[in-house]
Amino acid sequence: MEYSYDDQNIFAKILRGEIPNQTVYESEHALAFRDINPQAPVHVLVIPKGPYVSLDHFARDASQEEQVGFMQAVAEVCRLTDTDGGFRAICNTRTHGVQDVPHYHMHIIGGRQLGRMLQ
Ligand code: IMP
Repeated sequence: MEYSYDDQNIFAKILRGEIPNQTVYESEHALAFRDINPQAPVHVLVIPKGPYVSLDHFARDASQEEQVGFMQAVAEVCRLTDTDGGFRAICNTRTHGVQDVPHYHMHIIGGRQLGRMLQ
């Protein structure tokens, strides 16, 4: 699989500070911010700061430090938001996974009872 990163995608612009965001947590390796179109009371996107297009790209090519930093950001989002009742983590990937923004991101969705499956 060849991965080609488009640095004009909207999350790249957010990382460069060209577009505002509602930051929940930021570290050296990751940024977490509120989704602009929330599907639940908690809807946060966690992204790595490096140029990775998708979960599989990140899992293959990111350093251990970046991967640990990313998961630490997920833990911080859970600590800082209403997720004690549970949540869903989603990484839409490429066309079949209906990924709109080609910068790897994990949706953290919760704060209410979710349905059994997403379509
Ligand atoms: P996906 O790529 O299909 O996983 O979805 C991308 C997500 O990014 C959608 O839930 C959008 O609502 C969200 N989104 C798009 N633009 C922005 C933005 O500028 N700020 C925050 N969220 C955004």
